[in-house]
Amino acid sequence: MTDLRELYQELILDHSRSPRNFRPMPDASHKAIGNNPLCGDRVTLFLRVEGDRIADVSFQGSGCAISKASASMMTDALKGKSPAEAEVLFARFHEMVTMDPRASFEPGSLGKLVVFRGVAEFPARVKCASLAWHTLQAALVSKEGKVTLE
Ligand code: ZN
Repeated sequence: MTDLRELYQELILDHSRSPRNFRPMPDASHKAIGNNPLCGDRVTLFLRVEGDRIADVSFQGSGCAISKASASMMTDALKGKSPAEAEVLFARFHEMVTMDPRASFEPGSLGKLVVFRGVAEFPARVKCASLAWHTLQAALVSKEGKVTLE
């Protein structure tokens, strides 16, 4: 298990140091701002939805390594998916980080996002890991969304 943990940690560090899709999107069709005051994480999420596909997704913001890596890996995972598929992925992700850390978990469609499974052991970091996802949901619901995690 230790090796796997180290691998996960490396992936999270890599994404927090060089986040993917870290740019503004002038032609975004959906946008939302997420705020996690407990840790000071802020994320602005941009989506360009074409038909029933997320054609492009990007983000900007600042915060801890977990929040950045989570936003980075989320944007990678969302490209080409439908908004409905994105909601399913969010539900699965949320389940993963809030369920009993000792319970076995089958990543399935989450793929690489399983690196955040360990966050379940640290309740204070769950909001860091899920901020980008809550922001995604706010963007999909209202096109100009805002969400603050209390
Ligand atoms: Zn954080």
